Amino acid sequence: MDLPINNICHSRINGPGNRLVIWVQGCKFHCKGCFNPETHPYTKDYMMDVVSLARMINEDKEIEGVTFSGGEPLDYPNELYTLLSEIDSKLTSIIFSGYQWEEIKTKRNLLKVLALADLSIVGRYDCKLPHPYLGKKFIVTSNRINLELFKPKQIVEYVVNGNSITKTGIFKTNNINI
Ligand code: SF4
Repeated sequence: MDLPINNICHSRINGPGNRLVIWVQGCKFHCKGCFNPETHPYTKDYMMDVVSLARMINEDKEIEGVTFSGGEPLDYPNELYTLLSEIDSKLTSIIFSGYQWEEIKTKRNLLKVLALADLSIVGRYDCKLPHPYLGKKFIVTSNRINLELFKPKQIVEYVVNGNSITKTGIFKTNNINI
């Protein structure tokens, strides 16, 4: 069972502590001003077996959790369910999804995935709002994530890995032409 991957790297601003962030490949929502348009095509250039991915996560001693972003993680519910089931229970998990809560709440397979994550932040990105998290719903299934961390603020992180640089975080929305 393989998951299409756009990028994987360590980050300190996609949830509490040092985390492994997994950006999946493929998203059909095409929100205006999306930070990660390169993740939209449903290409399969880089596929990772979810059991191998879980092993890689569990062997990473530098992280306190995993964050799934995209792309649209919930477009791969079986893969995500297996992955979250295999991850060490000491690690916290966060899912960012563009699905609206109204689209999720009637789908049993998506609810099963969300039940395995500590926190899911769901809803389409609206670049007209002053902060990306405004208009989103926070689905909390444990008390292991401090929600204060997600209070609106502007923060950008650059992760350098070999020859590549990944820009991640919350960018100023007023730079976007609407
Ligand atoms: S749901 Fe997320 S990844 Fe998909 S287009 Fe919207 S902001 Fe981008």
